[in-house]
Amino acid sequence: MLKVAIMKALRPDARGLARAAAVIKRGGLAAFPTETVYGLGASAFDPAAAAGIFEAKGRPHFDPLIVHISGLRQLRSVAAEVPPAAALLARRFWPGPLTLVLKKRTSVPDIITSGLPTVAVRMPAHPVAVRLIKLTGPLAAPSANRFGALSPTTAEHVLRQLGPRGVIVIDGGPARHGIESTIVSFDRGRPVILRRGALPDAEIAAACGLRKVRLARPGARVRAPGQFRTHYAPSVPLKLIKPGAAAAPRGAAYLAFRRRPEGEFRRVEVLSQSGDLREAAANLFSALHRLEMSGAKVIYAERVPARGLGLGILDRLRRAAAR
Ligand code: AMP
Ligand code: MG
Repeated sequence: MLKVAIMKALRPDARGLARAAAVIKRGGLAAFPTETVYGLGASAFDPAAAAGIFEAKGRPHFDPLIVHISGLRQLRSVAAEVPPAAALLARRFWPGPLTLVLKKRTSVPDIITSGLPTVAVRMPAHPVAVRLIKLTGPLAAPSANRFGALSPTTAEHVLRQLGPRGVIVIDGGPARHGIESTIVSFDRGRPVILRRGALPDAEIAAACGLRKVRLARPGARVRAPGQFRTHYAPSVPLKLIKPGAAAAPRGAAYLAFRRRPEGEFRRVEVLSQSGDLREAAANLFSALHRLEMSGAKVIYAERVPARGLGLGILDRLRRAAAR
């Protein structure tokens, strides 16, 4: 494994960066240093690449991913609206460990935001991250570790965990340990802290001219329309069934894994005709949105195979069914 590590750590020079950027532009993954921890990056506009992030991490559920940008022009390509308080915080604290939750543009795929209408955006300060993102455009990136393992603060940590999965990494030296970004959302223009992090509450309050910034209770709703701290769930009841439409009534909305079912349904979505779980994961949230909008009173969803990304899809469907 050491040999793999030596072969795959890229130097943070023009050549190494160009190589990582080429992999990302082809829909692949590349890990890169940030000032918090190493991130596992994929294009923020490519749903299959984002599914690849969850697959490589072995994540049993889908968490919304933070989109990393290198400049304010890129902010406009992912966020549909930037309230004045957000613009002010961005000017004051970017680049740095502050993440802003903003209304997303439709160009950001639903798998990146777990179906939420908002996107989390951050401009990292690490010069290698900035140079990479200038080459690739916005990158969706969680920490570059396997699910449940420690967050990586060196390129070697990344290679030990993800090298065997073919993930490449740019070596930017040790990252500062244990500092996650502070996540701020906006409720009718006012900042709300969703997650405390490296940027203290008081600095955010001072920048906004407030005495205090509201802190969202974990799991609580942020009251802006359609904005939830927890994940998106369809507003229509969802029932999980075995593949094959025997149990589903006429007029229902139907989420199939591979095969279009027989019968009259209000709307049918097929996640992947070839049975590819990565493609299925990439399509999941948009498919649920379309079924929800179809006007059907209930969604019937087929169970997908319980392996790899299928576990993430099942987790999501079970939560939706439990409401
Ligand atoms: P990290 O694990 O540090 O990459 O941060 C990802 C976390 O950011 C997620 O687990 C969410 O808690 C939060 N997050 C990302 N996108 C959103 C969003 N659109 N709305 C609210 N929180 C978000
Ligand atoms: Mg993490």
